[in-house]
Amino acid sequence: MAPETQAGPAHAALPLPPMKWDAWGDPALAKELSADIKALLAAALGVTGDAAPGPAAEEVALRPSQLAEADLKALAAVVGEAYVSAAAADRLPRAGGKSTPDLLRRRSREPQDAPDAVLLPGSEDEIAALLTLCADRRIAVVPFGGGTSVVGGLDPERGGFTAVVSLDLRRFDRLLDLDATSGEAVLGAGLTGPAAEALLAEHGFELGHYPQSFRFATIGGFAATRSSGQDSAGYGRFDEMVRGLRVITPVGVLDLGRAPASAAGPDLRELFLGSEGALGVITAVRVRIHPLPAVKAYEAWSFPDFATGAAALRAVEQQGTGPTVIRLSDEAETMVNLAMTEKIGGEPAVTGCLAVTVFEGSAEQVAARHQLTRAVLAAAGGTSLGEAPARAWEHGRFNAPYLRDSLLAAGALCETLETATDWRRLADLRAAVTAALTTTLPGALVLCHISHVYPTGASLYFTVVAALGEEPLARWTVAKRAAGDAILATGGTITHHHAVGADHRPWMAEEIGELGVRILRAVKAELDPAGILNPGKLIP
Ligand SMILES: Cc1cc2nc3c(=O)[nH]c(=O)nc-3n(C[C@H](O)[C@H](O)[C@H](O)COP(=O)(O)OP(=O)(O)OC[C@H]3O[C@@H](n4cnc5c(N)ncnc54)[C@H](O)[C@@H]3O)c2cc1C
Repeated sequence: MAPETQAGPAHAALPLPPMKWDAWGDPALAKELSADIKALLAAALGVTGDAAPGPAAEEVALRPSQLAEADLKALAAVVGEAYVSAAAADRLPRAGGKSTPDLLRRRSREPQDAPDAVLLPGSEDEIAALLTLCADRRIAVVPFGGGTSVVGGLDPERGGFTAVVSLDLRRFDRLLDLDATSGEAVLGAGLTGPAAEALLAEHGFELGHYPQSFRFATIGGFAATRSSGQDSAGYGRFDEMVRGLRVITPVGVLDLGRAPASAAGPDLRELFLGSEGALGVITAVRVRIHPLPAVKAYEAWSFPDFATGAAALRAVEQQGTGPTVIRLSDEAETMVNLAMTEKIGGEPAVTGCLAVTVFEGSAEQVAARHQLTRAVLAAAGGTSLGEAPARAWEHGRFNAPYLRDSLLAAGALCETLETATDWRRLADLRAAVTAALTTTLPGALVLCHISHVYPTGASLYFTVVAALGEEPLARWTVAKRAAGDAILATGGTITHHHAVGADHRPWMAEEIGELGVRILRAVKAELDPAGILNPGKLIP
């Protein structure tokens, strides 16, 4: 199998990731912006014309594979000819993640980079053998889950090695065990969110992890990035669901998580939650599961302003009244969402800030939690809007990424960033990030919501929309740097759930301190002495 050297993609030899290579998700679900929305963009942001279309896949000037013929043969000897490819058509869809900068790069007619080959191992032994081979032959390895990273976690960085390969986990796609007594399941790392939930649902169980990338992201990716889903108030972040992990490192296999809780020293699972492919390849994750909820209840609320709404969410979380979903949009996001959201009928007019609550469980649990939560929200200044806006939110909750593609095509830059801090500093953090973004992107619209809550603090999620203009990538880089600096200066974390990747790496030393960085480097040196695993990500 000769390395692909021609410019455009050839015939794909491997099963492709389910997402379009240059956009979010399934192209069939993409939606055109309405004339009203386009008029709104023109009036509010000066967006005056569609962006120049990017190249078709066959037109992409993809850099030729750097992998030597002998290396490709050796890799094929481990996984089998059918599971290795250096064809451009296989490399291009694994060229990176799905951040807006990634999408802008895909639209470029300049030469584009991609992993030099793609591997689809089918067993842990094959992964172990591949890692040994790559260390010997000085080839970097980027583990690939669903390909939804928004922090450059999948960039084909060679890190001084001769070549880089994408190690796609999609063949690790089985429910390996289900223990109904303990409420645990062992899931293959390559299972997507919907595939994992479908397998669990056959047994009457649910994981309950619904990030916006749910439809395409994988179990291994959730663990490797410490993902957080929209039902986090009820079921916790993904890292809180993890009971055990299997990890293949270049120097051996780890099987972590023996008991529901343990005092046997520091918890080594924590080292691999958020390890972003830099310390090992996660092949299976043992997770906490719960019975499929019998009943769901919905209620939306309006608050006169963000501060009142935030105080109400804090009261709910600190009193532990138990919603499964609770989130609050600021005034601007409430307004924009109303304009953009598909109406499913009966929603009342919303002013101020919209909060959504959802409750899941048995009929008795739902009724009790709903009543308690409602009392707290009403006492804190909320006005009930009934269930329709909350149902409308749930109905469209995975659609926003398609909207981003439509905005990009219509000449508008749309990107998100997120952080978290304690309740005391939340307002200052929001103000500082908003100021950083509007100063560096004059005229931009900055929307914000509280996406995840804890007794001690919350996560803020920002969406920025601006005219694409000239050099959007360079302008966004400046804005992102200013926002990141503002986050650290105001006591926030550089990432609450998107992870570090390449994009947040410049802030890691400030986030964890120089000694923290040395600890991570020491662990990396022990587990990956050649440094082949995902170079240039996570660890400064
Ligand atoms: C539109 C959109 C919405 C999003 N919404 C959310 C959200 O609501 N909440 C949230 O938390 N995140 C969100 N994200 C970010 C992203 O979806 C998550 O980080 C997700 O967990 C990544 O999973 P993945 O399987 O796609 O991993 P990938 O993107 O393929 O990989 C992510 C990182 O993990 C590493 N990795 C992947 N699999 C493994 C493995 N098996 N072993 C070792 N390393 C591995 C990769 O090398 C890479 O560094 C969103 C992203 C997009 C584009």
